Amino acid sequence: KTFEELGVSAEIRQAIEEMGYEHPMPVQEEVIPYLLGVNNDVVALAQTGTGKTAAYGLPVLQKVDASRNETQALILSPTRELCLQIADDLENYSKYLPGVRVLPVYGGANIEPQIRTLRKGVQVIVATPGRLIDLMERKAASLEHVENVVLDEADEMLSMGFTESIDKILAGVPENHNTLLFSATMSREIERISKKYLRDAKEIVV
Ligand code: AMP
Repeated sequence: KTFEELGVSAEIRQAIEEMGYEHPMPVQEEVIPYLLGVNNDVVALAQTGTGKTAAYGLPVLQKVDASRNETQALILSPTRELCLQIADDLENYSKYLPGVRVLPVYGGANIEPQIRTLRKGVQVIVATPGRLIDLMERKAASLEHVENVVLDEADEMLSMGFTESIDKILAGVPENHNTLLFSATMSREIERISKKYLRDAKEIVV
């Protein structure tokens, strides 16, 4: 299949073509048409290197309404490195989506510039949990219009002790959002949070 057959828009196809993506990877073939076609939750078992970032990133970006200056998608990542990597990928994918702004927020960096950028409005936040909670408490990040939440490397987030933080963050997201959970492994903990946060989730294993 081609990205076009999966339903990826011309603007995004132009961007990924320039990045050298010729054919969808298996996780992308499964996740992209599903996320573009229905509004439902997904739990995907996918290691790093399988193309998982584009699998959720392309449909999430395609669903963003650039005319609305509010945060519509939230991606949570366990580490600063992954956070920056995801944001970098999403910025590349959205190169030809005018008005779509992606912001990485993570701990260990000065919070003031992050606050200033958030105040101008960003549609996609890529965050580590601790820093996002800090920004929520300072009323700099508002999640009340978020439609899609991605928990990337969810197993890592749990083993790093972010369970309570994730609870707190998701409490600030509207009830009817979609949750996309990506994990390298299926553990009892992952099963437990899938039950807690996901509804009728499609399971994808690559
Ligand atoms: P990820 O698993 O998201 O970390 O992606 C692994 C690597 O594969 C990254 O360097 C991506 O830029 C690259 N990649 C993702 N999808 C494709 C694709 N369809 N064709 C070629 N490279 C890709």
